[in-house]
Amino acid sequence: MEERINNILKTRFGRTLKDSTREEIFEALMEITKQELEGRPKVAGDKKVYYISAEFLIGKLLSNNLINLGLYDTVNQALSKYHLTVSDVEDLEMEPSLGNGGLGRLAACFLDSIATLNLAGDGIGLNYHYGLFRQEFVNNKQHEVINPWIRKESWLEKRPVSFEVNFGRFTLHSTMYDIDIPGYETGKCNRLHLFDLDSVDDNMVKQGGIDFDKDDIPRNLTLFLYPDDSDRKGRILRVYQQYFMVSNAAQLILKEAEERRVNLHELDKHVAIQINDTHPSMVIPELIRLLLKRGFEMDEAVEIVTKTCAYTNHTILAEALEKWPIDYLQEAVPQLLPIIRELDKRVKAKVKDETTYIIDEDNLVHMASMDIHYGHSVNGVASLHTDILKKSELNNFYKLYPEKFNNKTNGITFRRWLIAANPELTAYIEKLIGSGFRKNAMELEKLLQFKDDETVLREIGRIRNHNKRRAARYLYQIQNIDLDVRSIFDVQIKRLHEYKRQQMNALYAIYKYLEIKSGHLPERPITMIFGAKAAPAYTIAKDIIHLILCLQQITASDPEVSPYLKVVMIENYNVTKAEMLIPAADISEQISLASKEASGTGNMKFMLNGAVTLGTEDGANVEIHELVGDDNIYIFGKSSDYVVDLYEKASYKSADFYKTDALIHKLVDFIVSDEVLEVGDPVALERLHHELVSKDWFMTLLDLKEYIKIKEKVFEDYEDRRSWYKKELINIAKAGYFSSDRTIEQYNKDIWTLS
Ligand SMILES: *Cc1c(COP(=O)(O)O)cnc(C)c1O
Repeated sequence: MEERINNILKTRFGRTLKDSTREEIFEALMEITKQELEGRPKVAGDKKVYYISAEFLIGKLLSNNLINLGLYDTVNQALSKYHLTVSDVEDLEMEPSLGNGGLGRLAACFLDSIATLNLAGDGIGLNYHYGLFRQEFVNNKQHEVINPWIRKESWLEKRPVSFEVNFGRFTLHSTMYDIDIPGYETGKCNRLHLFDLDSVDDNMVKQGGIDFDKDDIPRNLTLFLYPDDSDRKGRILRVYQQYFMVSNAAQLILKEAEERRVNLHELDKHVAIQINDTHPSMVIPELIRLLLKRGFEMDEAVEIVTKTCAYTNHTILAEALEKWPIDYLQEAVPQLLPIIRELDKRVKAKVKDETTYIIDEDNLVHMASMDIHYGHSVNGVASLHTDILKKSELNNFYKLYPEKFNNKTNGITFRRWLIAANPELTAYIEKLIGSGFRKNAMELEKLLQFKDDETVLREIGRIRNHNKRRAARYLYQIQNIDLDVRSIFDVQIKRLHEYKRQQMNALYAIYKYLEIKSGHLPERPITMIFGAKAAPAYTIAKDIIHLILCLQQITASDPEVSPYLKVVMIENYNVTKAEMLIPAADISEQISLASKEASGTGNMKFMLNGAVTLGTEDGANVEIHELVGDDNIYIFGKSSDYVVDLYEKASYKSADFYKTDALIHKLVDFIVSDEVLEVGDPVALERLHHELVSKDWFMTLLDLKEYIKIKEKVFEDYEDRRSWYKKELINIAKAGYFSSDRTIEQYNKDIWTLS
């Protein structure tokens, strides 16, 4: 391997490992990896799945690719002579931000598992040049700047594949880029196809921000993921993006089917299409349109497409189920309208229930309705979530098509979230139970035999401390943050949203701050770690970030408090930071308002790395709870049934909690106290205070008291180190269920039926 690396370095830079820069070594390793990938055959099969998604949050690829190719150890060995590791070199890789959060990360984990299970299946998405914005903190506030991730040397391979995409006012020609997705030690790979446009102009973004001319579609189409949709232009741009994605997808799918000599009248026997959330929904009318052009009758085209497409629902937040005004579609994609109208007409002829119509009386097109009527499967992403879909959110559809509804509890790829992210723990597990868990995650249960073994529990603790030091070094390097590695790491990292209730955690920070000020010192210092981006137009979410940053400043600059409590907000939370922080975490904060988090996958990553969950009975937390039992998780808060009932009766009044409870009153008022106003922006802080007191749509104050109480209990229990490490071990041992290999096996068995 050393020789192979040196040969490339010599050819490219006239140097060898001895005197090359890390940048040069990174490029050499990328070239070797690409050569290897190039040589691998593609997974082939009689039936193939296409996973269409607006997001693929793939993270950096060097380590993961080397692991899956079976080259990781060899390369590490070659580098070690020069005091380097793959992970040092990977620091130089840019992280593509082709996703926003859980949904995009799920798509990436799924591609890894599809390839690892040797299933024929490719991803299809868009090649956003800047992806999601990069977050910077200025004056305790989030600022958004562009994130140019595509370098001359990247994982993208331009292919000689291009399709014509017709819009109402113009026609564009796409370019296809591929990223190879190797299976874990399978010798084969699949692909992620990312469509782009040659005419896109990276320079049209205004300096220092993320603003650009939203009208100029040929030049802006693939610049950003989720362009600001607070105005009409931004919303129409999203329609253009979605249609560009699915028209390319549909054309590619038919092209490949025809190349495989598939009889298109039997398309559903050879192709499965998974629609990841509603963004790709227009693939349904687009495929029908293309089949009609090939001479199909409407009835048959509709039937075949229905049998081919399946829809995954990711949320019950009403505002996230997309509805497009018909005039947007008329302007951007007029050729689809006759088909969408026909689909709607057929629903109206057959179904009485108006709530299931595709086009409603306000002329809004409901994308999820189209998916459910004209797909053969609808799945939720955790068992509680699927139950809620059936019982309330999509109950009217469930009554029409009970057979379409099914659950697929999310999962994560253990290659990235254990083997790559936590090599120390991986090596130790291997020493204890052998390497079978690498292929069969359920074998982690073999660890249970060590649950009372002193030596093993001590080693679990040692590995945690090692990972804490690693995270501390990293955060010091990138953000000049100084962490106390003897403190408890209490971690909440995820997109910022009121339903995830970072604000409740911030109120706990205020509680602890005031306790310390009044002389009640914690037994052990606490480090509260946050990481979250807020959508640029989501004002309250940005106010919550502002509050946390103010608390960070206040606690850090108060010598009475700083030895005991540190509040830290990680800048620009992304996959790389998750990989560094999760193995270092003691406590996994999963405190969404019950019924609101469809599944969560962060919760699974923490569990797999031994962190103990502090959470509500929501999403996949319910299943974690069932697996580990009451003693190895901390559950609090009102139940999902209770919360759903409160919404139905509209009976939650945050002001009642604020007025009648002295502690809640004090904590909430601290947001606008002199201490905070001194370092913060009064407008933002007053706005957040007012929101909590007068509205609090996601019921922060409902669970606050219980949250504080249980968190105190967590910190107390943490001091019994032996029993804490036992909880950690049990969490790791029970995490096998959350391997995305299991999830994909279920998708395949119940929905795709590939082989
Ligand atoms: C896993 C992951 C998420 C999802 O986290 P949740 O806690 O499930 O919301 C979001 N962002 C990144 C970078 C992730 O790795």
